Amino acid sequence: MGETADLVVVGAGIAGSSVAFFAAKSGMKVIVVDKGYPGSGATSGTAAYIRCHYTNPHEVRFAVEGWQIHTNWGDIVGGNSGFKKIGHMVIVGPNEVAKLKRNVEFVASQGVNTYVLDGAGVKELQPYMEVDDIGAAAYEPDSGHADPTDAVNTLLAGVKERGGRLVLDAPDVELIVTEGKIAGVKAKGETISSPNVVLATGAGTAALARSVGVEVPVTPMPIGAGVLLMPIEEMGGLPMTTIDLAAQHWYRGDVGDHMFIGAGYEDFIGFTADADGAPEEAIPPTQEQLIASGMRLMKRIPAVERARPGRTWARTDSLTPDGHAIVGPVEEVPGLFLFTGGNGKLFKLAPAMGRALADVVRSGMYAESPLAPFAADRFATGRAVSTGEWEYGWGSFA
Ligand SMILES: Cc1cc2nc3c(=O)[nH]c(=O)nc-3n(C[C@H](O)[C@H](O)[C@H](O)COP(=O)(O)OP(=O)(O)OC[C@H]3O[C@@H](n4cnc5c(N)ncnc54)[C@H](O)[C@@H]3O)c2cc1C
Repeated sequence: MGETADLVVVGAGIAGSSVAFFAAKSGMKVIVVDKGYPGSGATSGTAAYIRCHYTNPHEVRFAVEGWQIHTNWGDIVGGNSGFKKIGHMVIVGPNEVAKLKRNVEFVASQGVNTYVLDGAGVKELQPYMEVDDIGAAAYEPDSGHADPTDAVNTLLAGVKERGGRLVLDAPDVELIVTEGKIAGVKAKGETISSPNVVLATGAGTAALARSVGVEVPVTPMPIGAGVLLMPIEEMGGLPMTTIDLAAQHWYRGDVGDHMFIGAGYEDFIGFTADADGAPEEAIPPTQEQLIASGMRLMKRIPAVERARPGRTWARTDSLTPDGHAIVGPVEEVPGLFLFTGGNGKLFKLAPAMGRALADVVRSGMYAESPLAPFAADRFATGRAVSTGEWEYGWGSFA
C-alpha cells in the first residue's frame, strides 16, 4: 500500500509551493510532486516584480496581501524571499491618465503607499529617463522585486519541516479518480492516496486535467527576457521595477550594472496574439531580438545606446482567455483543484492566493472565498474577470 496525504500538490513552481506551504502550516500532511525540480517552470525565469497596482479589485486584494507576505516573509514563512524595496512604477501615456488616477486612488484606499507622478516627477527620481510622452505614473515606493529561488525554496522547506515531502523528477504523474472523486496520484511508480489534489502545473495544466476528462482553458504563454549591461556610472543608477505602458515595455535594475528587460515575445504580453501559435517550449530570444528590444527602450532611456547585450532566456507561463488566474475547485471532480493561469503576473499573487486556496481545500468554503472571482467555470458562465473602463490598453499586464 502506498502513502497517504491530506493534499497532493502537482507542480513545485511559486503557485504549488505557496498552496503547499500554507496547507502544511495549517496542519495538513502535504506531498508535492513535480516532473522537474522546484521552480523549473516559468517561476525560474521571472522578473519577480512585487507590486500592488492592478485595475481590478480582486487582483489588487491578492497583490496587497502578497506584498505583505513578502515584506514579513521571515515571520510568516521563515528565511526571506529576496525581497528588495527598489520601488515600482506603472507609466501611461496622456490618454490613460484619468484611469491611472482612479486606479491609484483605489489601490491607496487598500492601504498601499502609492501616488501619482507626472513626467517631471518621474525624471526627478530617474534623471536618465526621457519623459516627454509620459502622461502619468503610479508610483509605489515600498514595492520592488523578490528572488524566485529564495521564495520557492523557503516555502518548500516549510512544507518539509511540517512533515511534508517532495517527489521530484517525476515525468509521468497520473491522477487517480475513483467513483468520480479524486483519490490521489501515481508518481514514479508510487501511489499516493489523497482526497485532495491541486494542479499547480502552469502551462502543463490543460494536458493533465484532460487526462481525467476536464477541459481547462489555458494555453502556453512564452515570455522572453534578457539582460543589458548598462553604463551605470554615467546614469547614476538603474530603474525601479517598471511597467511602461507608454513605451510598451517592462524593465528593472538588477545586480550591479545589469538591467532586466522583456524581449522576444512582446506580442504575447498583451495576450492579444494567437496563443495557439505559441511553442510549447519557449525559445530564448536571440541577441538580435534583445538588441531590438533595447532599441525600443532607447526613447525612454537613451543610455541604452551604450549598453552591451547580455544573456537571454525564456519560459512558458500559462495564459487564460481573460488574462487572469484560475484558482478553485473543479466541480466535475470533487477533491480536484486548479491553481494556474500565470498570465505573466502570478509570482506576486501566488503566495496570497495559495494561502486562500489552502483555506478552501481545508474548509470546502469556496463561494465565500475571495478566490471565487477566479473560478474555473467563469468562462462557460459568462463571468470572466473584467475591469472594463479601468483597464489599460496593453492587455492584462497591469
Ligand atoms: C520572463 C518572465 C518575467 C515575469 N515577470 C513577472 C513579474 O515580474 N512578476 C510576477 O508576478 N510574475 C512574473 N512572471 C510570471 C510568473 O513568473 C509566473 O506567472 C509564475 O511563475 C507561474 O508560476 P506557476 O507555479 O503557475 O508555474 P510554473 O513556475 O511554470 O510551475 C509549474 C510547475 O509544474 C510542473 N509541471 C507541469 N506539468 C506537470 C506534470 N504533468 N506533472 C508534474 N509536474 C508538472 C513544472 O515542472 C513546473 O515546475 C514572469 C514570467 C516570466 C517568464
